[in-house]
Amino acid sequence: MKILFEQLDYLDPKLKGMLLWLEGLFQVEFNNTSNFRPDDEGVHGYGRGWDIQCNYEEFGILIRDTINSAYEYDPHRPNMQCAIFGDEHHLNHVHLQVHQNTRLR
Ligand SMILES: [Zn+2]
Repeated sequence: MKILFEQLDYLDPKLKGMLLWLEGLFQVEFNNTSNFRPDDEGVHGYGRGWDIQCNYEEFGILIRDTINSAYEYDPHRPNMQCAIFGDEHHLNHVHLQVHQNTRLR
């Protein structure tokens, strides 16, 4: 089953733009493992989080670093990033997230 994420009303437009940019850049159609989670108090509960499957460490690091080089999550919180991969919670997927202040660098 393919999800046309561009048509998901609950998804933040900045996140849609990031996903389109990412798939165009890598010429890969990623598998989504999680997106909107109604009871989640984090970004997944607000349509601002999206997980893409990644079982290859080197590729996950490349995706993560590419996104974080291009996008700034929130200028007021420079420790926050748009892509997370490689810690204990993010080994088989890259977590993508946006904020209202997220912008291209
Ligand atoms: Zn996630």
